[in-house]
Amino acid sequence: MSVSCVMGRKILGFLFALGSLMLGTGVSGLAQGVSQTKVLKLMGSRFEVTAVAENEAACWNAINAGIAEIQRIEKLISSWDPNSQTSMVNRSAGIKPIAVDQELFDLVARAKKVSKLTDGAFDISYASMDRLWKFDGTLAQVPADSAITRALALIGYQRIMLDGESTTIFLQDKGMKIGFGAIGKGYAANRARMVMKGMGITSGLVNAGGDLIAWGQQPDGSPWRIGITDPNNREEVYSWLSINDQAVVTSGDYERFVMIEGHRYSHIIDPRNGYPVKGIKSVTIISPDAELSDALATSVFVLGEDLGLALINKLMGIECLIVTDDNRLIPSGKLYLNYYKP
Ligand code: AMP
Ligand code: MG
Repeated sequence: MSVSCVMGRKILGFLFALGSLMLGTGVSGLAQGVSQTKVLKLMGSRFEVTAVAENEAACWNAINAGIAEIQRIEKLISSWDPNSQTSMVNRSAGIKPIAVDQELFDLVARAKKVSKLTDGAFDISYASMDRLWKFDGTLAQVPADSAITRALALIGYQRIMLDGESTTIFLQDKGMKIGFGAIGKGYAANRARMVMKGMGITSGLVNAGGDLIAWGQQPDGSPWRIGITDPNNREEVYSWLSINDQAVVTSGDYERFVMIEGHRYSHIIDPRNGYPVKGIKSVTIISPDAELSDALATSVFVLGEDLGLALINKLMGIECLIVTDDNRLIPSGKLYLNYYKP
């Protein structure tokens, strides 16, 4: 997802690559300085990190620091890496609490807040379903109802126990599992921005596999332009946003899915029934915070158009754009005015 990339990772990637090229070669010397971009694979996705600074060396210093920060976070939150704190928590489910870094503890606490806000539509303990719904090409048939019912019993954010005194996380039941697929890239984008801003970079952009945050402006003083991927054709952009200090994050059913007997099952799971969500093709969330945008994009996807839209319209400073399965485009209350040109 993603916007500015939001929605179409590929097209966005392409556009950004184009943008970077223009910035990197043609704009040097303008009022704001020069910009440089690094494209690389991190957290299993295509990332782009762009810095605007007075000279190229300053850009690269900041870009490298931003990338190191993302790699550090990946080590902390990965559930694939058996040595991560997250994997230790998962292995110890139903056995014992695990002491973790304050950072991981806080991330889980914020994830639980989003679960509360969304009445459980967003739930990092959805991950017990990872064992059944596999999107790596190995799933040949829909998992048995009985297996889904068993895994469903292991989902429940209320049973992710946090102890602030000892900074421990305890998953109450054996087999429970947490995963940060719906929030980790947004968090990493926020952190990379923070590190780069701390180094004096007043304009830049981090595109974490389509979850994007931008600050300041392009070297010529114009706002960053973000293309939202067309969920029907990842190679196309269907809408553009001009942003300065915003995160644009998209959840899309086209990102990871499996086709079984002509039906598409996508990677966002409804924690209330254990099945992939239907009804929506993509949700783009615009807010000042990439982690929040990331979490809410997944949440609105699960909540569906009515409840999802009602939630976003209740929240100040957060807008969304939903594309339904039947290709209706639904903007939140203020999006039309601010960003969206049909
Ligand atoms: P995103 O692209 O941000 O919407 O994240 C989707 C990813 O989040 C999936 O690939 C899963 O790893 C994870 N996920 C799936 N369903 C949920 C859910 N209901 N709550 C939290 N995370 C989920
Ligand atoms: Mg998300």
